[in-house]
Amino acid sequence: TYVVLDNCIACKYTDCVEVCPVDCFYEGENMLVIHPDECIDCGVCEPECPADAIRADTEPGTESWVEFNRKYSELW
Ligand code: SF4
Repeated sequence: TYVVLDNCIACKYTDCVEVCPVDCFYEGENMLVIHPDECIDCGVCEPECPADAIRADTEPGTESWVEFNRKYSELW
């Protein structure tokens, strides 16, 4: 899965949401998140993010962000 990191906070762009083929972005409290079970790992959102906030969960330092993204994806 891909995850959104805290660089997303205060970013006003939604380029990532527009390109996602499965609509798995959700609004968190102050940033967007990706539902880890819905993301198909296509990777098209990562280069679209102007805040450089999207990473594959295979990258170091993303572990806790997967659960964060899941939690806020399922809030509403
Ligand atoms: Fe959507 Fe693809 Fe990004 Fe996953 S990697 S959030 S499926 S655009």
